[in-house]
Amino acid sequence: MTITELRRTLHSMPELSGAEARTAALLKGFLETTGPSRLIPDIAGHGIAALYGGGRPGPVIMVRCELDALPRPDGPGAYHGCGHDGHMAIAAGLAERLGSSPPERGSVLVLFQPAEETGAGAALVLADRRFAAVMPDMAVALHNIPGFPMGRILLKAGVFAAASTGITVRLRGTRSHAGEPHKGNNPAMAMAQIIQTFSAVPQFSTGLNQFGKVTVVHAGLGARAFGTSPDEAVVMAVIRALDAGETDRLYRRCETLATGIAAAFDLEVTVEGAEEFPPTVNDAGLTAAVERAAGNLGMRVLVLDRPFPWSEDFGRFAERVPGVLFGLGAGEDTAPLHGRDYRFPDELLQTGTEILLETVRVLARRGSG
Ligand SMILES: [Zn+2]
Ligand SMILES: [Zn+2]
Repeated sequence: MTITELRRTLHSMPELSGAEARTAALLKGFLETTGPSRLIPDIAGHGIAALYGGGRPGPVIMVRCELDALPRPDGPGAYHGCGHDGHMAIAAGLAERLGSSPPERGSVLVLFQPAEETGAGAALVLADRRFAAVMPDMAVALHNIPGFPMGRILLKAGVFAAASTGITVRLRGTRSHAGEPHKGNNPAMAMAQIIQTFSAVPQFSTGLNQFGKVTVVHAGLGARAFGTSPDEAVVMAVIRALDAGETDRLYRRCETLATGIAAAFDLEVTVEGAEEFPPTVNDAGLTAAVERAAGNLGMRVLVLDRPFPWSEDFGRFAERVPGVLFGLGAGEDTAPLHGRDYRFPDELLQTGTEILLETVRVLARRGSG
């Protein structure tokens, strides 16, 4: 199977975060043919890692990609709306090349990580004993990024992608007949105030030179029944900032405001966090290594002057060891990530494999002094 065929096969069998069983089985079969020195399946669920080299001492360099797809925007099932099918095929291409010419010193660990989209996977991988046994010294990953020229290498040292956390507010009042709302306690007004107040939090809590966003992503009230004044409402929002301290601060601000509004309306309230992503902070030395690799291959580089507003749980690895996440331009006219019409461009497969392979070579030389 060629890498392009592999990408298309993976595309045709998308699986949600934590449920990537068939995807992992297909990759395991492929990786077995590449002759790794070790193959470790079932990491943190369906994660799978292939190790190459290890004959002579040297750094363990991890290259990580993601197994999961997204929920369909318009109904049940999943779709590869973030291009993880492409990232897996690129990593498989790298594995093939490493299998036929393994690193002379140290080793390269190619990790296929589960559950990136929910922010759970990287933390689970790091907590898994089998991963700890091959804990890398540094970590590298790429993400395709529509809106930039095809194949452009997008680099930034320091904060590369934002931190984020979800917040869910549940309100409970008392149900009554819609003709007698005064005999119950309808959470509609509190829900509306929470939506407006959350949306205004960055205006009053974030400085001009800081970055902060609170985006309401879902709200619900009662049932579709004209006869009932409802008793339940929910508001979900996602909070973003460039460091985890700032997302924590905005989260606590939202929590205080929601609790206060609920109290003013005499409602019971619970506030819960979910899907927490740290910021992705790139190591300067590793970022320079990707730049050098791109130079060696004659690939064009764009150094970004600001971080991306989305989040990536690769940040968990970069908290533990020096790491770099870099972008691969996916074409100026390609539909945006997570959009309905997004599709991974196959032109990037070769570029992705080459830049990862050369980055690993640059890092291995650097690591062996
Ligand atoms: Zn995504
Ligand atoms: Zn992604």
